[in-house]
Amino acid sequence: MGVPAARIVFDEIDRSAVADAVTEILATGALTLGPWTERFEQAFAAEHGAPHAVAVASGTAALEIALRTVDVRDRDVVVPAVTFYATAAAVVHAGGRPVIADVDPRTLALSPATLEAALTPDTAAVVLVHIGGLVTPAVDALRAICDRRGVPLVEDAAHAHGSSYDGRAAGTFGLAGAFSFYPTKVTTSGEGGMVLTDSPELRDEARIYRDQGKGSFTTNHHVRLGASWRMSELNAAVGTVHLRRLKEFVETRRRVAQRYDAALAGLDGLQPITEPAGSRSNYYKYVALLPAGVDRAAFKRAVAEDFGVRLSGEVYDLPLHLQPVLAPYRRGPLPVAEDLCSRQICLPVHSDMTEDETDQVIEAVTAVHRRLAG
Ligand SMILES: *Cc1c(COP(=O)(O)O)cnc(C)c1O
Repeated sequence: MGVPAARIVFDEIDRSAVADAVTEILATGALTLGPWTERFEQAFAAEHGAPHAVAVASGTAALEIALRTVDVRDRDVVVPAVTFYATAAAVVHAGGRPVIADVDPRTLALSPATLEAALTPDTAAVVLVHIGGLVTPAVDALRAICDRRGVPLVEDAAHAHGSSYDGRAAGTFGLAGAFSFYPTKVTTSGEGGMVLTDSPELRDEARIYRDQGKGSFTTNHHVRLGASWRMSELNAAVGTVHLRRLKEFVETRRRVAQRYDAALAGLDGLQPITEPAGSRSNYYKYVALLPAGVDRAAFKRAVAEDFGVRLSGEVYDLPLHLQPVLAPYRRGPLPVAEDLCSRQICLPVHSDMTEDETDQVIEAVTAVHRRLAG
């Protein structure tokens, strides 16, 4: 049977809801910036307890729009070393310079100490990333450091649909939260992104930027250096339908994670990144660290070949400062990030995962761990 690395879940009801929406959209001819986009924005904002949401073409566009609104041109933007390429790329595209900071080994996120070490007199913004869907309990302390310096905090919440800390949703801790609806994310619109904010000014700017920087929908006066960052109505319909499942998906993912936690507690040396008090992860990823010296490629090969279990992609296997294209922003070693990236594995978590699949993963990982690290 086996367990795949990822599974995208649209049941029959959702597929038929999307089909009905597509029929309606095609019949009306309102293919972009129409009622489905508005519906998606309102539902997403409500789901996260935020006043405003602006739907855009991708998570990367959401980040770039937030950073362009802040205006980071020719200035520094702190990003964590353990994140996806797009976190740093958005900074560069917005005209800023990424300053890549080390992370806290307990959360894979910036800590107050690693943030302080990366701040410069020319810091224009800080980007916090909720890796695997886990919001660091240091989020308020990080925000306080930013406030003290007068520097806006932007969240890359691409992993964190429906995650929270202290009952407050990911994406609501700073000036803006950027979400992605890429297919593997916890909810998807096919492709797409969302800017979440409590600032009506940022909302208005985001609407201008996403539509080629036009001052208004009906004029051709371009007042910002925007781009073609709209979300199509077809994507918005898919995202709206999928979002209705968010709570149920997160519940399922959390049940899987609890079984993994219990099973891994008995494994010497295979150390999960566990949920700190107050933090409620959506378990976009279930991250665990292999003991030093265990060959990750051999581990993944063994669980796949001997047990049919595909581990999901790491978050991430190479820190930003070692990405070839980001070499100009490399300053020195970031030992914690390098260690975390070299040792992490991600156990598969699906929004409709069965107990049987969960047990297959536990059996595979336990056996291979005993063989390679025992
Ligand atoms: C997926 C992702 C993005 C980019 O989202 P796209 O929709 O693919 O542009 C940015 N940051 C992180 C951490 C991501 O995982």
